[in-house]
Formats: sequence, structure tokens, C-alpha cells
Amino acid sequence: MTTKYSKLVDVTRCDGCRACMVACKNWNDLPVEPEEFKGSYQSHDKCGANTWNVLTFDEHVAEDGRFEWLFRHSACMHCTDAACVKVCPEDAMHYTEFGTVNTNYDKCVGCGYCVQNCPFGIVQLATLVDEKGKEYEQAQKCTMCIDRLSEGLMPSCVEVCHMDALVYGEKSEMEALAKERLALVKDRYPNANIYNPIGVDGTQTFYLLAEDPSVYGLPENPKVPMSATVWKDYAQPLGKAMLGVTTMAVIGGFISNKLFNKEGEEGGERDE
Ligand code: SF4
Ligand code: SF4
Ligand code: SF4
Repeated sequence: MTTKYSKLVDVTRCDGCRACMVACKNWNDLPVEPEEFKGSYQSHDKCGANTWNVLTFDEHVAEDGRFEWLFRHSACMHCTDAACVKVCPEDAMHYTEFGTVNTNYDKCVGCGYCVQNCPFGIVQLATLVDEKGKEYEQAQKCTMCIDRLSEGLMPSCVEVCHMDALVYGEKSEMEALAKERLALVKDRYPNANIYNPIGVDGTQTFYLLAEDPSVYGLPENPKVPMSATVWKDYAQPLGKAMLGVTTMAVIGGFISNKLFNKEGEEGGERDE
């Protein structure tokens, strides 16, 4: 069995400096996306094709009347059972040797089914230009800095986090650390909890939250749509054997659009 590696995001330690956002842009050579001031310190509404992590700022009044300013490093969750992998008709979305989820850019055709079905509203399409000047679209999101992991380095955002709010390592060790830290913050944050949702079989970006997931705009029980599971695990393997890979990709695209999109509208975060 592959050893899973995870990024623990301990929001109780985050001071909102946003060094993680800058480090991600810097390492991954992502263009700057200036935004207008909208009355909040949050720079971008949500993760985008060129902004792979966003520091969310939420104002919250705790049960005892205390005002809290809550920060959250949001990025791809790297779901163990990932909807984006399930619905991708080209197998471009795939699991890596680190237990994370990445896009194979050579295979991605920009159909957008992963965008429609991600329960966290993370992956987005970037518009790029090929060598002949023709525009095309491609799914883009946090890669967990796989190029750094392959060299034995930490993800760029983890490397720069001066509060130790972002920690990366073997999943079992990160889970133990999250439990230790949860016990330490319970007095200060009685609603503190570990967010590692079972509906997607756990995630490789997981959280120690100070308040309930909904306070941070996270879905309480994100799930892979049933139609996606039936399609990927049963219909597609059978269909490929009978009809061939290309035909099934076309059929998959049609079904994703009609069926998965309908289910995707029912749940999940779209406004990080
Ligand atoms: S670098 Fe660390 S402390 Fe700074 S915003 Fe990101 S998670 Fe928070
Ligand atoms: S958060 Fe969305 S894009 Fe990331 S692995 Fe899960 S389903 Fe895929
Ligand atoms: S792991 Fe890498 S790609 Fe993902 S948010 Fe952090 S810096 Fe960006």
C-alpha cells in the first residue's frame, strides 16, 4: 500500500500573514491576479486557475460572545476518493505516488467536468495559448508541489509558514500531531475539530479547525456523486472493453455534463 503524505493546516496557529500565497505563486510561477478592495482583507474570493491557495478571512462571533477573526489556508484537498479523478473522461486527473491528486497536462482536454464536480470548488480552468497562438483550456490547481516532493523538499507554502501552521509529513504522523494540538487548543476553542472528511475517504490537505467547518465555508459532509462512482468503477471499465477508450471518453463527457453536473449543484463549497 502506498504511504500517504499529508499537509496538516492548523488554523489555530495561522496569523494571516499570507506568506503561503506568495510562496505558491513564486515557486509555481503563477501570474499575479490583482483584485479590487471589497471591504475585506481577503485578497481573492476563492482559489483559481492561477491562484492555487487563498487565505480566507472570516469574522465570527463565538458562543461566549468573543469576536474571532478566523484565517484558513485553502487549497486543493487532495481527496483520497477524488470526484475530479472519478469524472475525468481522459484519466488526466490521477493519484500520485504520494497519495495526492494531480493533472496530467498532456491528457487534459479542458472539458471542465472536474471543475463542475469538485465538492470543494477548487480546480478551475486556465486559458492558455499554444505555439500556434491558438487558445485552449486546461485544469489547474495545487500540485502539493510534487516537483519539490520528488526532490525530498517540503511544499513551498509549508517551507515558509513561520507559525508552523502548515506541516507536511506521513499522514499517520500528521494525524497524531493534529490530535495532540487539538487537545492543547480545546480550552481556547471548545468547538475545535479535525476536518478530514470521510465522505471522500479523507484528504491529504486536512485541517485542525477552531470552529465548525461551515463557519469556514467548508461542506460538512462532502461526497463523490454516486453517479460518478457508478460511471468510473463499473460502466467505464466495461464500456472500454466493449467499445474502446475513445468512444467511452465521448460518452463519459456527455454523461458528466448531463448527470454529474446536476448532482454537483446540490452540495459543496463554491465560494471559498
Ligand atoms: S504562511 Fe502560515 S501563518 Fe502565514 S498565512 Fe499562511 S498558514 Fe497562516
Ligand atoms: S479538492 Fe477537488 S480538485 Fe482537489 S482532489 Fe478533491 S475533488 Fe479533486
Ligand atoms: S502545496 Fe505547493 S502548489 Fe499547493 S498550495 Fe502549497 S505551494 Fe501551492
